[in-house]
Amino acid sequence: MIQLVMAEGKKLILVTNDDGVHSPGLKALLESMEEVGEAVAVAPDRERSAVSHALTLHRPLRVERLKENVYSVNGTPTDCVAIGAQKLLPRKPDLIVSGINRGANLGDDVTYSGTVSAAIEGTIMGISSLAFSLMLDFPSGGSGPRHYETAGKYAGLLASFVLKNGLPYDTLLNVNVPNSPQKDVKGVRFTRQSKRIYDGSIQETMSPWGELCYWIGGGTPIWERGPDTDMDTVMGGYVSVTPIHLDFTNSAAIEWLENRWNGAG
Ligand SMILES: [Mg+2]
Repeated sequence: MIQLVMAEGKKLILVTNDDGVHSPGLKALLESMEEVGEAVAVAPDRERSAVSHALTLHRPLRVERLKENVYSVNGTPTDCVAIGAQKLLPRKPDLIVSGINRGANLGDDVTYSGTVSAAIEGTIMGISSLAFSLMLDFPSGGSGPRHYETAGKYAGLLASFVLKNGLPYDTLLNVNVPNSPQKDVKGVRFTRQSKRIYDGSIQETMSPWGELCYWIGGGTPIWERGPDTDMDTVMGGYVSVTPIHLDFTNSAAIEWLENRWNGAG
């Protein structure tokens, strides 16, 4: 367990990500959270993007202390939250933040995202949790400047807001920030999740031994958008804040199913 000398009343914040402990987004988020409270980073030792909510069950996990308040784990973002919150920190954290991801997590991306899944794990543990992502050009992120400092600024504002107000039950915030200087961001908007389907995202390739292989990635995203969605909002220059609920139940579908099952519909 980490020995922390904490100032009276200071909030304890666990910082993690899925791009790995050495990524610039984690550094920016940690620096931002150090302004808000006592921040400790517990993050994967390498990139674990798109691992979703995977939990490592079949091998032991090792923790390495890299700096006074930075730890790496040879596991997934979910492993980091579980070990960080329950074993490394001196007490349950007041807040869990994940990111700042290199690239947006919009629409159905949230189901693949390790960044968002870390916040899901925190929410399951009953801890207020937020996921932060920086909108970059699809798919590689392009070669221009990456404004992690802008996302860090809004991460600080939203973390303070959540520490003061809490969050609705079983709900995390999925935050996507435009890749712009702070002066160009128009503000914060609360949004709904859009829908994205990738077309042609499985490429065929050959191994050096002549085997046909498949490489998942790329493709053309097809969007179901709308002015109140995460996608349109961040494309319009605003910070998109989507409240994500962990109860996946489609309540209206229960009646739909019952009616048809019972022959009434
Ligand atoms: Mg990532």
